[in-house]
Amino acid sequence: MSTQDRKGIEGFWLEYSGILQECIEALPIGLESLQTHSQLTLQEIESGSPFIKRQLGAINGIVMVDHCRRLESLLVNHLGQAFLGISAKIIRDDSIHSSMIHFFDNVLNAKPTYLATICRTADLDLETLTLFAVYAVRPIRQAVMMAGRSDDNGQEWPYGYCPVCGLWPRMAIVDETTSELHLWCIGCGGAWRFPRLVCPFCFERSPERFGYLYLNDDSSYRIYTCDRCRRYLKTKLTHLKDKTTPVSFDVEYMSSSSLDEMARIERYIQDFVGFAAFDLQDNAAARAYRKQACLMAHMNPGE
Ligand SMILES: [Zn+2]
Ligand SMILES: [Zn+2]
Repeated sequence: MSTQDRKGIEGFWLEYSGILQECIEALPIGLESLQTHSQLTLQEIESGSPFIKRQLGAINGIVMVDHCRRLESLLVNHLGQAFLGISAKIIRDDSIHSSMIHFFDNVLNAKPTYLATICRTADLDLETLTLFAVYAVRPIRQAVMMAGRSDDNGQEWPYGYCPVCGLWPRMAIVDETTSELHLWCIGCGGAWRFPRLVCPFCFERSPERFGYLYLNDDSSYRIYTCDRCRRYLKTKLTHLKDKTTPVSFDVEYMSSSSLDEMARIERYIQDFVGFAAFDLQDNAAARAYRKQACLMAHMNPGE
């Protein structure tokens, strides 16, 4: 990542944060029925069902289409011409309502083949479309995340996937002051505390199966790797309480693509950014995963 790229990403994020906030405020979204995490019963936590699956109220379509168009122009201005015309390819003027509902519904439900199909029919690059899609639905996911948050200190949640969206974490932060690990979700921008020395993807906990990779020129980043599931986690080491240099996970994530490249060379593979863990379905793999999470939570009281 060159300094120029990092500058573009920071410029994008600075402006995007503003339109994101405006969009969230304008969304008449039915959040009244959502509980905060701290109000969840043990049974609800053990069910492991992401919040986004709960019923959302009517989403303001005009606000969301406008958000997509503004997002596109910011992406073009800061990150390049590849994003030009992307919202028109997804949200067509001839059927704004149906194409928009279809798009948001598929992205929020993290349907694995949906984005790939758009790429083929609209002649788009998957990485470009994915980045656009993630931020196009961010206001909805972030509104749900904020409604469910009881403090800013990172929630306890015993699963390796996001409590709100059901997506796998794209980054982690180790707070060097408290030694706590926070997993971060690109879907809603939320983070939650998770035990260190446990793989969030497969619950491996044997130290000999973990490794790490790092950049020679920046010791504040690590990639933690797991040899059981062959997944990895980009990790930033920082002091979260240090408000003079607040961490923007989005900027850290987007500007650390060289770490993903490094992990790929070592044959560690992340799931595709748009995939939810277990496809948001209650299948056998999801049940087995949740069972392990509950066992782990009981073995580590207070973690
Ligand atoms: Zn999330
Ligand atoms: Zn693993």
